[in-house]
Amino acid sequence: MTHAHIDHIGIVDKLQNKFNLKVFMHEEDQEISKNLPTYCQMFGLEILKPPKITNLISDENSIEIANYTFNIIKTPGHTPGGLSYMIGNIVFVGDTLFNNSIGRTDLPGGSFSVLVNSIKDKLFLLDDKVKVYSGHGPVTTIGYEKKNNIFLK
Ligand SMILES: [Zn+2]
Repeated sequence: MTHAHIDHIGIVDKLQNKFNLKVFMHEEDQEISKNLPTYCQMFGLEILKPPKITNLISDENSIEIANYTFNIIKTPGHTPGGLSYMIGNIVFVGDTLFNNSIGRTDLPGGSFSVLVNSIKDKLFLLDDKVKVYSGHGPVTTIGYEKKNNIFLK
């Protein structure tokens, strides 16, 4: 999991009931995850159970999944425990960075300055050619966002 927002974790418990899945999440997003039923209620949605987190992440380690190695990059700001996962020339950034935009920071635990630091001090150190897969919207690259993203000028 890149972070614990409802639109990213809502289905995970149901998937875990069908398949034997490990769930990796940063420890600082546990509180948001635990509150999933409350968020469902607030939005008038079916009440969903939080995912069963099998692997709590606190540091920037790497993890092995099915012989693939993912490097973990801590990218807080959208949530306190925001994570990005890098594999080869691809980085999955959740809602930290979007094509021509950045993640919102007005939700509980969000911070604009922390988010901008995560992007500038972590993601923008990656090679310009690295492909960025965001939680929403089209694929982009580090180089394109460095040059064009108006939120980061
Ligand atoms: Zn989010």
